[in-house]
Amino acid sequence: NWLLEVKDLACGYGDTTVVSDINFALGEGDIGCLLGPSGCGKSTILRAVAGFLPLQHGQIHLAGHPISVPGKAVPPEKRRIGMVFQDYALFPHLTVAENVAFGLRHMDREERQLKVTQLLELVHLQDLADQHPHALSGGQQQRVALARALAPEPTLILLDEPFSNLDADLRRRLSLDVRDILKTLGMSAILVTHDQQEAFAMCDQVAVLQDGHIQQWDVPYNLYHEP
Ligand code: ADP
Ligand code: ADP
Repeated sequence: NWLLEVKDLACGYGDTTVVSDINFALGEGDIGCLLGPSGCGKSTILRAVAGFLPLQHGQIHLAGHPISVPGKAVPPEKRRIGMVFQDYALFPHLTVAENVAFGLRHMDREERQLKVTQLLELVHLQDLADQHPHALSGGQQQRVALARALAPEPTLILLDEPFSNLDADLRRRLSLDVRDILKTLGMSAILVTHDQQEAFAMCDQVAVLQDGHIQQWDVPYNLYHEP
């Protein structure tokens, strides 16, 4: 029983095909990775999963439902997919707590406050709730972005080069912290990165991409022990 299934996917921009023959499946609670050099098509696959890019071929299923086939797609806001980007993309005029609360406006006030408090504890930012993003370090801002993405209780989290703006040491620590947070919640995720160490440390399964094709989709151990 897969949480996410990508079958024979092809997509690109206009008439150009950028990725094709993309097949992989993610189990519930698993962290998958799209690993490869810049320009190989990682973000393009992520955009297709998020619903921002139409399919040229194939299909995508989430939690057993078809969410994308050529010519027909569930719109991004209905997919229950959370996203975290390289540049954090926080709202600068809102506090940390307000950023996290942003997707929870439908909740009543007390319920929302409790939820925000729990999320800030989860990412260890409870003391910075009333700060604005510019007062935070890059790593802290990325924790806020993660809490905000988790707030609406998505089925899947997409992480697009989330640590690329951070220095090597912080990157390593934060990637392990994020793995712990996702595992604590049993949250499924896909990480996009060009950093092999990061991919292997953080992910249960890794797709190695080259020129728009998946070379391999396997557990890190097997990728390490290739002849
Ligand atoms: P990666 O995420 O692995 O760096 P991308 O998926 O961003 O790779 O890009 C794959 C290819 O698609 C590149 O050749 C890139 O130039 C092209 N591409 C990406 N975005 C667009 C776009 N909006 N319009 C046209 N081509 C694009
Ligand atoms: P309002 O008070 O009208 O709800 P605010 O802009 O003051 O709007 O805050 C938006 C939401 O952000 C609040 O309802 C609350 O859920 C959350 N929030 C703000 N500050 C905190 C905080 N320090 N701790 C927890 N949640 C907070």
